Amino acid sequence: MPFWWKVSYQKFQQWLQFATAPHREIDSLAVQHNVRLLATLTLIIIPLHIFTALALFTAYGSMAQTGKLTLITIVVTLGIYFLSRTRYGEHTINLFVLEMVLLAIALLYINADAYSAVTAVLPIYIASLFRSIKRLIVTTVVTILSVFALSQILPGDWEQIYGVLTLLIVISAVIIVRSRVQWVLEEQIQQHNEQLKENETRFRAAINAGRSLFILLQVVNNVDDRENDFLIVDANTQIAMHFEQSHEHLIGKSVSKVLPPALLEYLLPQFHQLVNKQLPILYGEFSVEDKWWEYQLVPVGNGLALSLDDITDRKLSEIRQFELQREREQAIILNKFIRDVSHDIMTPLSIINTKAYLAGRSPNQDQRSNHLSQISEQVVRLKDMVEQMLSQSKLHNLQPQDLDIYPINLNDLLEHLIIEFKRDKRYSQRQLVFQASPAPIIHPVDKVRLEVAISNLIDNALQYTPDSGMITVSCQEVDEGISIDVSDEGSGIPIGDVTNIFEPFYRVEEHRPQTAGAGLGLSISKRISELHGGVITAENRSTGGMLFQIYLPFSIETTDSISSDSVNT
Ligand code: ADP
Repeated sequence: MPFWWKVSYQKFQQWLQFATAPHREIDSLAVQHNVRLLATLTLIIIPLHIFTALALFTAYGSMAQTGKLTLITIVVTLGIYFLSRTRYGEHTINLFVLEMVLLAIALLYINADAYSAVTAVLPIYIASLFRSIKRLIVTTVVTILSVFALSQILPGDWEQIYGVLTLLIVISAVIIVRSRVQWVLEEQIQQHNEQLKENETRFRAAINAGRSLFILLQVVNNVDDRENDFLIVDANTQIAMHFEQSHEHLIGKSVSKVLPPALLEYLLPQFHQLVNKQLPILYGEFSVEDKWWEYQLVPVGNGLALSLDDITDRKLSEIRQFELQREREQAIILNKFIRDVSHDIMTPLSIINTKAYLAGRSPNQDQRSNHLSQISEQVVRLKDMVEQMLSQSKLHNLQPQDLDIYPINLNDLLEHLIIEFKRDKRYSQRQLVFQASPAPIIHPVDKVRLEVAISNLIDNALQYTPDSGMITVSCQEVDEGISIDVSDEGSGIPIGDVTNIFEPFYRVEEHRPQTAGAGLGLSISKRISELHGGVITAENRSTGGMLFQIYLPFSIETTDSISSDSVNT
């Protein structure tokens, strides 16, 4: 389209808008529409009439009756145009329709034939353009009766008048029915539009309320690419503000051009999952870089709606609270430990003190060496306790990559441990049984540390199992990993304590007289299992006694690395 045409067309539209604007006191939308239509029609008709009048006068001379009639019509139409500008614009429509009726009758009067009667359709058609079924019917009846009356009064060529009248009635009926149907449809469309507008307003208010980021996406099937693309169909103001882009700039863009790559890396697979699996909803939390996000996805037509919340503050306060709770629990356990340990340390110390005193005063060499050996026994006990504490502290700071891992046959490792324990005279009355797996189990482990973890379990099992009780150690391949089991026939652990026994310094109250341990053995075993990517569990056996299991997965994914980038869906 040439530029000059575009500018002229715009100018013409502006002028027409101004020239047909209804009076400001008219506030009904329907009346405004009618008045504007009337003004437009008169503006179209006036130049047409001027042209017709000129043509008639040129063809038939200045006395042509139809020419004079057209001149009168121009004046009346101009008057109607100016009246349509007033606040009575609505009533002027009746005048205009009347003018059309009179014009048709005048034409008929001048020509007095059935062909001119056909022009009577014009006022009926004009009346149908305005919204009033009453006006349309009155115009139709008046026009048809006038044509009929004229045919009766005037002499002329009226042979086909009944045929023309029938035609007029049929056309009028069609015009009336068509207008009615059109108005009903238009009303329905208008109602729908209003409903849509209201829904749109509500939708916009809903998505803009609150702090959530909201995007409506449409799936686009890429022909060359196997993966679908997602185009932004709509977004709320929060998205625009968050990613510092204007709302218009976002619409129609691929989501991959708007959301940061770190967010997309997690969200895109979720989009595909929702679409491909046709899920009704998908939601969860995830963390990227130093932020936590909560998302919800729902399918919408050929696309999906994404609602995204930055929950970093909430998450941080949850983590802080969790840490605080942990610290509080640890402080309680530590206090209890200090109470218990000082008692446990005091016992060997007071034995050492007494025995040292007795050894010093004892005249007998045998008695002296007996006291001294008891002193060294207590020193070993104290040394073990301190060593365990040091070992726990070191393990706490250890990372999986610090382990000295190489493949070994676990059957051999266990067999060697069993032989060592069997040598311990304290447990000579217990039966220690090893059930090796039929085939060798070669698995990469830190041999020294795993030995410590398993020794703690076997040592506990021996300690808490009465004489003649049986302790069974076994090793087998299970689901995607290896299970090392230590079961005993001891006293078991009260249900309330089972969940806590892996906590550092935790000891079951009723076992305290039996053991001088620091309550660190199981927490050490747990840490070593986790450093191997495994888990340790404890349960009371139905037949009595405990079953401890260390599970080591074939593929080593350490719990440390899992927790650092864990995601939930
Ligand atoms: P400790 O060095 O005191 O034995 P552990 O961490 O090894 O510390 O064990 C913690 C507590 O768990 C022990 O004090 C004991 O009460 C209980 N316990 C551990 N193993 C067994 C078992 N096989 N049977 C019964 N109780 C056990």
